[in-house]
Amino acid sequence: MEPINGGEGYLVLKDWNLRIKYAGRIKWAGKQGTLVIRFEDGRWFAYVPVSVGEKPARSNPRGYVKGIYEKIQIEKPKGGNKAFIDVGLNNLFAVVFNHSDTAILIKGSTIKAEYYYWKREVGTYQAIRDWLRNRGFKTWRKYHAYYLHAEYKQHERLRHYYRTAIRFLAKTLWQMSIDEVFVGYPYMVNKSNSNEYNVNIWWFNKIVNWLGDVLEEYGIRLNMVNEYGTSRQCSICSMKHENGRVMRGLYICPVTGIKINADLNAARNIAKRVGYEVPIPKKILSYIVTTNGVKPLTPMEGVTIETPKINPTSPR
Ligand SMILES: [Zn+2]
Repeated sequence: MEPINGGEGYLVLKDWNLRIKYAGRIKWAGKQGTLVIRFEDGRWFAYVPVSVGEKPARSNPRGYVKGIYEKIQIEKPKGGNKAFIDVGLNNLFAVVFNHSDTAILIKGSTIKAEYYYWKREVGTYQAIRDWLRNRGFKTWRKYHAYYLHAEYKQHERLRHYYRTAIRFLAKTLWQMSIDEVFVGYPYMVNKSNSNEYNVNIWWFNKIVNWLGDVLEEYGIRLNMVNEYGTSRQCSICSMKHENGRVMRGLYICPVTGIKINADLNAARNIAKRVGYEVPIPKKILSYIVTTNGVKPLTPMEGVTIETPKINPTSPR
């Protein structure tokens, strides 16, 4: 393959002395496999399997493609630790570990604000468009374009935030010697606003798919766990009180009176559901997603965004 730029290039078929122009993005960098060209639905498609992370053979130095994910890091898990993740709106990711009393919270407040900002923009343009259209004004088309643009922007912005958070989380988990991740699959009780519900479910599926892809680069396995009941259940005393209260993001155990972040409580219950006991979090590392990356909310000495100060091998 001879890429000209990010979106086009030539397929070089030496044996046939052919150079065929292609359009499309090459995603992965690595050693090229056997090219397959197929005719589907009236169009030609070329498939090139890529052994990601593999260097080209000396005998064939050109048998290597550079993709848009050039910096792809194919790693192997450093250890066999497990992470348990609750995905939500207030905390995008609430993470507990089987081997550590450190927990991670990646706050979703910026994403939520962004979502509601664009929701209002979309709603406003939609309302103006409909008003004009219903009264026969031709200018409605202009507002329809604004409306479509706002929807597009909303999607792009959220996507960027989510992908930033996912990249950060995957790398952090790898640094903490995780080889397996358990994510709670949400069972949303409140379906009164079905539109919002569908939007959230749609993003949840996207987020989990993206997370699975990025974790794969680190050799980390992702499992889904049915989350039903994990938010109300108490992870402290292992009892199932129906009267467990959640106040301002804290779950309060009515028996012991111990308070725990409600999303970390849910994450601990996800762990229990798959048979893991996890220590009660003593140290919580909070982060916020910004357009410039994930930033620590509780800066501590020696803690940077790249390398959270977590020592997975320390005894307790
Ligand atoms: Zn309890």
